[in-house]
Amino acid sequence: MRKRLATSKPTKGSSGKTGSWRTFRPVVDPEKCNACGMCALYCPEAAIDEDLRVDVDFCKGCGICATECPKKAITMEREKR
Ligand code: SF4
Ligand code: SF4
Repeated sequence: MRKRLATSKPTKGSSGKTGSWRTFRPVVDPEKCNACGMCALYCPEAAIDEDLRVDVDFCKGCGICATECPKKAITMEREKR
């Protein structure tokens, strides 16, 4: 199991959980992902866990993970309402 890379864990912040207002969510293409962990390292919400799963309760859809992914394995997809 991958050790948590981020120094913090997601907690309920001043804006609370983001699940209700996030506009985009990151979707990982497993064919491109090499499990380097850079997305988890850069996520400001520590919303990507040891197994590189995104906790959508806390992901705010900022897209930093997609920008920093060296394999371009993350696509930001619009949430369906
Ligand atoms: S940064 Fe990209 S390649 Fe690396 S673990 Fe995350 S999704 Fe996979
Ligand atoms: S979109 Fe932003 S908050 Fe969500 S997992 Fe990526 S870096 Fe973290």
